[in-house]
Amino acid sequence: MSGRKTEWVTKHLDYDGEVTWLVESHGPPDDPTPPCRPTCRHCYATQLPPDARERLVVSELSLYPSDLVNHPRLEDVLRRARELVESRRPLPLKLITSGKGLTERRLEVLLRHLDQLDFHLMSTDPRERASLTRESVDRAERVLALVRRSAEEIDTVANVVLVPGHNLRSLPRTLRDLDDWGLRKCVVIPVGLTRYHRGGLRPLTREEERWVWEVCRRLDEELDLDVVPCDSLLPEERFRPELERVARECARAVEGLELRVGLVTGEAFGPVIRELCERVNAELEDRVLEPVIVRNRYFGGNIRCAGLLTGRDVIRELKGSDVDVAIVPRISVELGSFIDGVTTWEVAARADCEVVVGPERLEELPETLSRIASGWVGCTQPS
Ligand code: SF4
Repeated sequence: MSGRKTEWVTKHLDYDGEVTWLVESHGPPDDPTPPCRPTCRHCYATQLPPDARERLVVSELSLYPSDLVNHPRLEDVLRRARELVESRRPLPLKLITSGKGLTERRLEVLLRHLDQLDFHLMSTDPRERASLTRESVDRAERVLALVRRSAEEIDTVANVVLVPGHNLRSLPRTLRDLDDWGLRKCVVIPVGLTRYHRGGLRPLTREEERWVWEVCRRLDEELDLDVVPCDSLLPEERFRPELERVARECARAVEGLELRVGLVTGEAFGPVIRELCERVNAELEDRVLEPVIVRNRYFGGNIRCAGLLTGRDVIRELKGSDVDVAIVPRISVELGSFIDGVTTWEVAARADCEVVVGPERLEELPETLSRIASGWVGCTQPS
């Protein structure tokens, strides 16, 4: 989903830190892409809350399922996208597509204008892919042949959304096939299901997430393909070595502070933040840091990342705590407010605490705490 101001070429940051210019699937605001049909079983656009259009500060176009390859004037759109990024920072221009609607002719157009193609692939087995995309098996087979052709001619990457009962257990085979086909990278993402999804699918269990993490780690070493698990799959112990150091620096930063500081986070990162607070408080023999783990009531289901937290859910959680200052995740307010339009000032007023926007990375937290300890508090918007 993209911000309220409809930018149809945006900077895209991948899970491994790779930055590209992305042509948004919804197309330009005055010439949008027609909605995808049929919609995939796991599509986010079919599981949004009923008041999403009024409540969320995202472009209306991004609330509809769309794939730019279905745009009737695809070549004009890509030509314009290229012109737009020409004067900006030099980064590869890319498109994320499921390939639904892709034909030989349309692939030629993509190859002429783009530097990178990112396929929302689901599986290298046409039957498995079709079970999720609701294409015919023949059609899925043709799309997969086009993916192979793309990999011969252009930088081609894939992302695979894992859905138990459909494509989860075949992940090792999928990754090996992508390596054989010459793709450079595959990002692996567990399916996100809100409480409004139409049923028949379930999220991954903790054991399945751990298995996926192991498969990604092992095949990343074994294959030329870069296998990138999304952040929500990272097991807690991966943060332990860094956590020890960050906790020591945080303790130094807040020593003697007579304020209680809440670290706001989503459920996905909650255990890491809880452990960090425990370590700092144990070192100080005082209760200075408080984990504020916010359950995403608005979307529900397994939506646990900080990026989709609403201000209303954050206020509810903060009201139940006794913090003086709340540090909110930068990613939660990157649109200039929370995704429901609630600003950090509104959170501060309604939860009766100061609000500070946190750093981009956990290792920069001690610096933010030092600024709070030196008397610099107050609402800040992300820069
Ligand atoms: S291709 Fe993407 S946007 Fe279109 S229906 Fe499938 S998941 Fe939704």
